[in-house]
Amino acid sequence: MTDCLFCKIIAGQIPGAIVYQNERLVAFKDIKAQAPMHVLIVPRRHIASLNALQSGDDGLVGEMVRRAAALASEAGYAERGYRTVFNCNADAGQTVFHIHLHVLAGRTLTWPPG
Ligand code: AMP
Ligand code: ZN
Repeated sequence: MTDCLFCKIIAGQIPGAIVYQNERLVAFKDIKAQAPMHVLIVPRRHIASLNALQSGDDGLVGEMVRRAAALASEAGYAERGYRTVFNCNADAGQTVFHIHLHVLAGRTLTWPPG
């Protein structure tokens, strides 16, 4: 999608602090980090929200979650813990309509969320 911020980061049209990429996924640092580690994992393919996922995407979503665990572990947070979040639509506060898995670590995160 031409007007999507994350598609532009994936395409290298605007800068992103990329920490991991492969044929299907890109992970980059959130520009407004909410924790010492705050990475966003996105599929290269534009998918607007969780509501647009199809059964054929199960492997992709699974890979996103497994990559979150790997990145948190590589950063030393496997034992302490970390949080993974997909926000979907207005009530959850989704602001960028290209699915992204937040990975937050490095401080105690409260629950329930605000
Ligand atoms: P959400 O509110 O779940 O849609 O999350 C969108 C996230 O994208 C927010 O945490 C923003 O800080 C982050 N963000 C917005 N613009 C950029 C950017 N140019 N590079 C990296 N992260 C961004
Ligand atoms: Zn996109």
